[in-house]
Amino acid sequence: MEIERIELYPLLHVLARPYGDANGYKKYRTCFLFRIITRSGLDGWGECIDWLPTLMLGFEQRIIPFLIGKQATNRLQLVKIINKWHQRAAAGVSMALTEILAKKAAVSISELWGGRQHQTIPVYASFQSYTDAADWKNISLQRIEQAVSDGFRHLKVKIGGRTIREDQDHIIELQKFYQDTVQLALDANQSYDAAAAFQWERLFREWPNLMWLEEPLPMDRWADYKLLRTTLSVPLAGGENLKNARQFLPLLMEGALDMIQPDTMHHDGLDSYRDSLQLARQFGVRASSHAFDGALSRLYAIFAQACLPPWSKMEESGIEPVEWDVMENPFTRLFSLRPVKGAVQVPDGIGLGVEVDQEMLKAFRWDGRIYK
Ligand code: MG
Repeated sequence: MEIERIELYPLLHVLARPYGDANGYKKYRTCFLFRIITRSGLDGWGECIDWLPTLMLGFEQRIIPFLIGKQATNRLQLVKIINKWHQRAAAGVSMALTEILAKKAAVSISELWGGRQHQTIPVYASFQSYTDAADWKNISLQRIEQAVSDGFRHLKVKIGGRTIREDQDHIIELQKFYQDTVQLALDANQSYDAAAAFQWERLFREWPNLMWLEEPLPMDRWADYKLLRTTLSVPLAGGENLKNARQFLPLLMEGALDMIQPDTMHHDGLDSYRDSLQLARQFGVRASSHAFDGALSRLYAIFAQACLPPWSKMEESGIEPVEWDVMENPFTRLFSLRPVKGAVQVPDGIGLGVEVDQEMLKAFRWDGRIYK
């Protein structure tokens, strides 16, 4: 199980039309995949995100020389050390080493993690609602129409990037068409204060199809979250950028959230990520993983969700949905997993149980030129 070599796959796609959320526009999408190969021939894929030149330098100069010759079974120790240099690289390494272990045991990732409790996991279509076009609302509604006709029944739409009036007009229009057919989440990306969030309550009260309001406020305003949780008629969700269960703990102790949203890529490794999911279950709080930045990290979120006990006895599946990026992003198709009627079948083959698209790795390979 000695690590012999590591291959790097930096991928870049420049967007035809930038899109974004309350924090600004994305002009490109990237993906950084790597493959760790052991002397015995077992391999595992990892994924992380940052500016590609930073990742290339970090892996070539430090992470690869460090990992060569180490035992793939020493996952926790290796990930802890790399975490001191680059937290997201450490998360990616934990993915690759987890897959190698599953292959060694000849089991799927979900079997390695105690076994699937769900064969399919619902996914929600996740939008970046804003463009620089004057008719951004129409562009957004057209994208939503496409996702609904593709079979999605859970959607997440952005707010907080325009005036409250303009955002409300957008959501009112959306609700006019889809209120009876879809479940809806609204994500403000920490843009509001409590008073601004409360301006939505008049509408929230009329909308029975709201799944959650995501990060209305900065995540360190626990007292305001607690206040909103008691005054708004919509569940509150958040925590996509938190790194470990310790950071979720005070929010849960304070009763500030109805749902946590850990991200496999943003945590201190997959093991740490799964601790946060378990913590949510211990507190009787829902967990819906954030998974916007990568296809492999999303696949791990689906495996983890499949291994969680149901949060509720009220619904047939009783399992919360996982995020599915439906924006222009070719990298969401890197792995052969596609939603059907808004749900994905959990792969059950050895290791990941799905293949990476080798043609895409070639077609989108970053050419090494600096991009901004
Ligand atoms: Mg969010």
